[in-house]
Amino acid sequence: MTTLEQGFKEKICNLLTELSCCHRCIVRFLGIHVLDNEKAYQNPKEYLKELLHNTENYTGPEPKRIKANVCPVCLNCYNSETLEKILESYKLVSKEYNAYNTFFFNVSFPKCLSIRAHSMYLYLVEKFPNTPFGNLYNSTDTMLEQPHRIFRSVASSILSKTLNKTFHPKSNLSLLITLAYKDDNTEVEAITNILGKKKRNKFEVSRNNIFELLKDIDEEKFKKYFPVPPIIPQEEISIEKIDLCADPIYLGGRYFKFKRNVGQTPWVIDGVSVSEHNVQDIIFDAICDTLGFDRKQMTFSASGREDLDVRMLGTGRPFYIKIENPANRNILKSQLLAIEESILKTELAAVVKLKIVYASDLNKIKTGEESKKKTYKALCKTDAPDIKQAIEKINALEALEITQATPMRVLHRRSLLPRTKTIHKMEAKETEGNLFEVEIVTQAGTYVKEFVHGDLERTCPNLCSIVGYSTDIVALDCIDINLEWP
Ligand SMILES: [Zn+2]
Repeated sequence: MTTLEQGFKEKICNLLTELSCCHRCIVRFLGIHVLDNEKAYQNPKEYLKELLHNTENYTGPEPKRIKANVCPVCLNCYNSETLEKILESYKLVSKEYNAYNTFFFNVSFPKCLSIRAHSMYLYLVEKFPNTPFGNLYNSTDTMLEQPHRIFRSVASSILSKTLNKTFHPKSNLSLLITLAYKDDNTEVEAITNILGKKKRNKFEVSRNNIFELLKDIDEEKFKKYFPVPPIIPQEEISIEKIDLCADPIYLGGRYFKFKRNVGQTPWVIDGVSVSEHNVQDIIFDAICDTLGFDRKQMTFSASGREDLDVRMLGTGRPFYIKIENPANRNILKSQLLAIEESILKTELAAVVKLKIVYASDLNKIKTGEESKKKTYKALCKTDAPDIKQAIEKINALEALEITQATPMRVLHRRSLLPRTKTIHKMEAKETEGNLFEVEIVTQAGTYVKEFVHGDLERTCPNLCSIVGYSTDIVALDCIDINLEWP
């Protein structure tokens, strides 16, 4: 930005002092940024004193503000009393995060702070029309430093001492401070009144979009609805909430389900569990026992799901577990192995390749849900008099397009338009007991059981129509989900 001349700086300094602005807000309105001069914010009184005394002809007052008044721009959010209050509130946060050496903090300011700064800016421009003030809403070169940067520069060393942790912008542990002001809503409402009635009903002012709103508001209109300069408030800022929160960690792996009638996740109908066991609970139990997390901290996600009566064998199904707010994030290889061993002991399920994965990896599981290939092994019975001939008919086929209407068995839950799915490959062979086994590579989302028995012709073609005789499924296993994971 354009640097203000000494004479202008003095005038701004004096005017803002008269208006009861705090020293940090004055430094801010002089266009000083934390990165360029952090000291000015850490010791603003000293900075302003030096600035004023540098001029030989200076005859104005000392940069002394009327203490009793609340700063009309920041509502005292940067001053030491506010910081004291934050430290007091922090002592009530009784969470232990001894495993973390660093912390980061974020402050949420009341929305009216932006409006008040805007008002003060308009006032200065009006008072000193020839001053080259920088643009207020130019994202790369804004005149006013952002409040959270000022706050961080003032508070990080004190908070660091209290928390006994080093401040680090990339820490996984965050202190979240929410500041509030009792008239915030009223002041924000004054601004939304500038918008037409139609716009006002649609527009919800947030901390993020308030800049966009202020940027576009006509100056004269603003002055009609909001006092310029901002009035001195009766009350200062208060602390609404203070919380410590750790970033989640993710464990990824592949699971196997060895027994039928084991669910993937708990499934309760009318208060009754459909299955006694489920994979999610088996994995959660092992993690709770080994790592000491609480079940409530965890959520389970997998790449699709198999039916209750379908086993998951072969290469296993990709899944991940999100652990919210972990008190510890240093998970050892030996602990991961212990979890795998403990799951295996249940004889119902197993987990392999368990490891820590990152939020950026999760997309792999979430996307491509429809394009992935899945391989099943279906044990089938058929009315065909010559089973060898039936098998030949199946094996003679190349890739196959089928149309599936929503299966009868899930119709009560959802009903979709008929969908086209691809059967990429089939390989059948005879097994004992006049049955045959067919390995089917499908496009993800294909209903395999329905492809075998036809679902009253809702899936076409199907194995019955291919073989020419009624054919049904005896047992089904999923043996591969074609996805590299974790
Ligand atoms: Zn202030």
